[in-house]
Amino acid sequence: MDGVEVVVVHDARTGDLLRMPPRAWELMEAADGTRDLDGLLLAASQKGQLYQSSEVVSVLTDLMAAGLLTDGIDPFALEEAESVCDPETALEVLPFLLVCDGSGACCSAYNTIRFSNQEAERARALLPMLSDGYAKRFMPLAGSGAQKSCAAPMVNGGCSYLSESGKCEIHRVFGMAAKPAGCAVYPATFVYDGEVVRVSLGVECACVAKSIASKIGEPLVPAGATLRGDLPKDVQIGVVPNTIVLAEGLTCSREEFLRWSKVVTSTLRRWAPLEGSDLPVWSMAFSHDVVSICWQLSTTVADSNFVGGEKVRAIQPDVPPSHAEVLPWIAALANRMTAKHESAVRWRSEHDNVRATISVLTKAAKSLLDEDVLALVLAGEGANRKVESFYLTAAIHGHQLVGDVPVSLALRDRAIRILLSRAVCLLPRENELPESLATYPLPAVESVMRAQGGKEYLRDLQK
Ligand code: SF4
Repeated sequence: MDGVEVVVVHDARTGDLLRMPPRAWELMEAADGTRDLDGLLLAASQKGQLYQSSEVVSVLTDLMAAGLLTDGIDPFALEEAESVCDPETALEVLPFLLVCDGSGACCSAYNTIRFSNQEAERARALLPMLSDGYAKRFMPLAGSGAQKSCAAPMVNGGCSYLSESGKCEIHRVFGMAAKPAGCAVYPATFVYDGEVVRVSLGVECACVAKSIASKIGEPLVPAGATLRGDLPKDVQIGVVPNTIVLAEGLTCSREEFLRWSKVVTSTLRRWAPLEGSDLPVWSMAFSHDVVSICWQLSTTVADSNFVGGEKVRAIQPDVPPSHAEVLPWIAALANRMTAKHESAVRWRSEHDNVRATISVLTKAAKSLLDEDVLALVLAGEGANRKVESFYLTAAIHGHQLVGDVPVSLALRDRAIRILLSRAVCLLPRENELPESLATYPLPAVESVMRAQGGKEYLRDLQK
């Protein structure tokens, strides 16, 4: 950061972050689960660093207090992951063509850029001139023991292979095939649901919003790919679990959830005005309010008779939630964003895109505490209907509402994210916003929620 080495540990469970002095990290690199206190001291001395045992104890105590210390080695770290589905499994791909603007914004929006160990070796071999100081030092992806993947070092919040021109140096010099698999398929998402692999995408990049309804661009999978076996081997494929939590105390089977998902998709299609258009349904703005749809869908899944579809078809898609219903969510969101902003200011560079984005979103979240602003966004002010419609469609198609919170909560969370994006558009003009954020705030909200731990406001809400 600004030419200074900073080591941070991201806690993926809570979205929190621990900043470590590089000297403490040197020590912890040796804590791979095979050494006791004396062993750590010896290993550190072998690297030329002399530590007092009191210093080692102090570092370990801090990590323990942050909930980041565990005992022993991870015996499965280097095992081959079980393949989640047969190579003959069909792909169900969201028809979408992405036009990348080449600005490199997505390469500086995430805390961690994952490389497999082989991909890191290849990148270092292909671009040895970048290895002085930055690319040389890949970090462990998780923990400090043996593992198959690592995290690229970052420079002012961006991947170290991102050049000042906004281009990926690996891609520019050696082509797409030389990039890490995760970067090559970005922003596509893959999930196996017991029948097919659904291919969708995360609406986390302004290029996605700009590409909706585009008739040119790159498809989400290589041309001609119809089966799992046609995808690159290293692509990560999620799995919809056999039991899904819909609401507190209410679960359903995977098969029931798939039936619900299909009913929702066909209902959303009815709301896309197709007549007279040759655009695919995915690229059409619904003729109804997406916040209302998300909020009401949430109520339908929290009902034990949710599968039949009558309840989905009966929802009133233009009746937004009331102030009283959304206010606790907004308050928790504003608190969490304020904490995120304080944390970003403490350690991120002033030239860091994530810091600038979090600053704007924090102002927007606080603005929603104003009754008048909240009334405006609930009435649809600031809405980009096409992006909001696509956002919900992509989430349903990619089973993105199944995750670490119940589906009913995830749907309300999506409604709140949309309200936050609308609030960005209503910020007073003195807030100078980067052009992509001013025009397409929803992808920025989505990226901060998922990749920067913004979604942890849900945890605060449940306390
Ligand atoms: S490897 Fe290239 S594409 Fe991937 S994050 Fe880094 S700069 Fe971006």
